[in-house]
Amino acid sequence: MSFQSLSFAEIASRLYEIRRLERGLLVEFLEALGEMEERRGFLEMGFPSLFSFCTGYLGLSNAAAFRRTTAARMLRDRPEVREYLADGRLSLTTLVLLRDVMDEPGVLDRAAAKNEDQVKLLVASLRPRPDVPPLFRRLPATRTESPPDATSLPAPRDPAASAEATPPAAGASGPERPRARLEPLSEDRRLLRVTVDADFAEKLARVAALLSHRLEAGRLEQVLRACVETTLEVLEKRQRGVGRAPTKPPRTDSRYVPKAVRREVWGRDGARCTFTAGGQRCPATHRLQLHHLHPYGLGGSTTADNLTLRCQGHNLMAARHDYGAEVVGRRHEAVPRPDGGRGWYYPAATDG
Ligand SMILES: [Zn+2]
Repeated sequence: MSFQSLSFAEIASRLYEIRRLERGLLVEFLEALGEMEERRGFLEMGFPSLFSFCTGYLGLSNAAAFRRTTAARMLRDRPEVREYLADGRLSLTTLVLLRDVMDEPGVLDRAAAKNEDQVKLLVASLRPRPDVPPLFRRLPATRTESPPDATSLPAPRDPAASAEATPPAAGASGPERPRARLEPLSEDRRLLRVTVDADFAEKLARVAALLSHRLEAGRLEQVLRACVETTLEVLEKRQRGVGRAPTKPPRTDSRYVPKAVRREVWGRDGARCTFTAGGQRCPATHRLQLHHLHPYGLGGSTTADNLTLRCQGHNLMAARHDYGAEVVGRRHEAVPRPDGGRGWYYPAATDG
């Protein structure tokens, strides 16, 4: 089927339909898998376990096999799970996250329609885990010069851990850096796991030394907190124009957006992209840029009522509309703004 002739609305509705079919197929797959386990069919098929059947016969990755065998058992034990998977209130991933808290009353409804991070938080609040002591450890060196890959980490305790550590990208090859992780231990405690280079570690030690007169010794969390809070203060001041009130009225005919105007726009727009389509407002809160509603290059002024927050994608979309794709096409030449303002500067092209 070709999608080239379809509108975005038609493609979106087709995707919605495929998603629905996919959910139905998932339930059917899990039911069939459950039956295979119930009757120990994997043995007759020449495999020692259902997991081994999934990887060896069905060609699933370890992580996918773990999720599906676990979900198949949960579905068999608790048939009401079927409805939640079929209508999308639970995904395969969020269902499997609930495996140790299924006896909590109403847990399926509490997890319904939540994303992976929210369900992890729910599980952590139902089954709080103790704090993990700070650990600073040199990873085993790899043979090659390449960055440490996932295989250089100690083997995970169980397939669940490997499911989390393995990026879902199917068919990805080559060494993969372990991803930084921030996982909930309880309602208000998080475990941060991150791989850094030697330069980072050395700078962190210097920060810890400089802070040592006012922080408890060995409290890595406090050192990191100080780093984060200082960075936040600096960046928020710069990006939102938070600071002293201006002493003279701002110019409105310059591309430079005065602090007071930036502060007003950021506050008014709630630090979130304002692009809206069919009642759906873009949820982006990262890499926000100030966008001229009436394009600056076409005489638009740099005033709060002509400025709005847009994410990079929606700012670019508007610029394509205002200036044409050809001019905007050169944006890969963008460099950070020389005035230290939000967004990027395009030496050869105007932007919105
Ligand atoms: Zn956006």
